[in-house]
Amino acid sequence: MYPASFEVLIPRSLDEALDMLEKYGENAKVLAGGHSLIPMMRLRLVKPAYVIYIGRIPGLSYIREEGGELRIGALTTHNEIEESSLLKEKNPLLSETASKIGDLQVRNMGTIGGSLAHADPAADYPGDPSRSRGQRRPQEQVGGEGRQARGLHNRPLHNRPQAQRAPSRDQAPALTGSFGTAYEKLVFRASDFAIVGVAALVQLSGDGTAEKVRVGLTGVDEKPVRARGVEEELEGKKLSEDLIARAAERASEGINPPTDIRASAEYRRRMARALTKQALTRAFKRASRTQG
Ligand SMILES: Cc1cc2nc3c(=O)[nH]c(=O)nc-3n(C[C@H](O)[C@H](O)[C@H](O)COP(=O)(O)OP(=O)(O)OC[C@H]3O[C@@H](n4cnc5c(N)ncnc54)[C@H](O)[C@@H]3O)c2cc1C
Repeated sequence: MYPASFEVLIPRSLDEALDMLEKYGENAKVLAGGHSLIPMMRLRLVKPAYVIYIGRIPGLSYIREEGGELRIGALTTHNEIEESSLLKEKNPLLSETASKIGDLQVRNMGTIGGSLAHADPAADYPGDPSRSRGQRRPQEQVGGEGRQARGLHNRPLHNRPQAQRAPSRDQAPALTGSFGTAYEKLVFRASDFAIVGVAALVQLSGDGTAEKVRVGLTGVDEKPVRARGVEEELEGKKLSEDLIARAAERASEGINPPTDIRASAEYRRRMARALTKQALTRAFKRASRTQG
């Protein structure tokens, strides 16, 4: 289907984009890579009168380290995140996650800002438990660094125009010491979206105790969730594959997976447990290899 008719606006600065959003409000939508917005417009799920293309605004595509944090500009593409040597060294979870998004064309065009703002419950980045807490919700991610958007509210796939104030950045810590990360994903072949995705981070102390364990799941609920039961089960202990396998059984606690054409809720629960075991085992092995 063709989208309803609309006008394209091309701001050259963040301020200009913000002014346009203020002026056109509910009638406007930000366009970044277009890999989610254009299909939504073609299906007429959204019918903006104005589409504000932000791809010509300079300075929104970057990956850099500042004060122990890794900062990623909203217009940074999945492919740039996958290839970044800084991320591969300091927090490889995002790179591995990006490498499993869609196909090459999607990764070349799609942006982290667009993905987080779109808030698809099966998207890959939101499950990453290493990302900084305050930056995990899309509405926070899109708040402009200079001019903040307030009182925003998102629900999956339907971010309100006021939730798109300004493209900003995503943030994750630069990891230090003995750490390992892994992302496991069961894909729906037709789209490459996650049926279930599990991201894991393990940090070991000098004597090999698990100092920090983080597990994030995507595709298993309306929003990405942390497997806190699994984390509690492992933190402060000397890890082994047996211990991880037992703890992973708690990955399906408290989740409400959907049943749809891709998988039943029960299958998703089982895959959440199985992929948690795989992701944690891989992360643990990687962390062990970095011990002195
Ligand atoms: C065939 C196909 C396969 C895919 N497979 C996967 C997959 O496996 N995993 C996965 O996670 N994703 C997948 N995607 C989605 C893909 O990652 C999209 O690129 C991403 O969801 C949206 O990024 P975008 O830059 O294209 O955003 P757009 O489509 O341009 O915008 C998406 C939404 O975000 C808003 N927006 C965009 N940028 C900003 C910003 N900076 N600030 C505020 N609001 C903003 C827009 O107004 C719109 O509502 C797939 C897409 C396709 C077409």
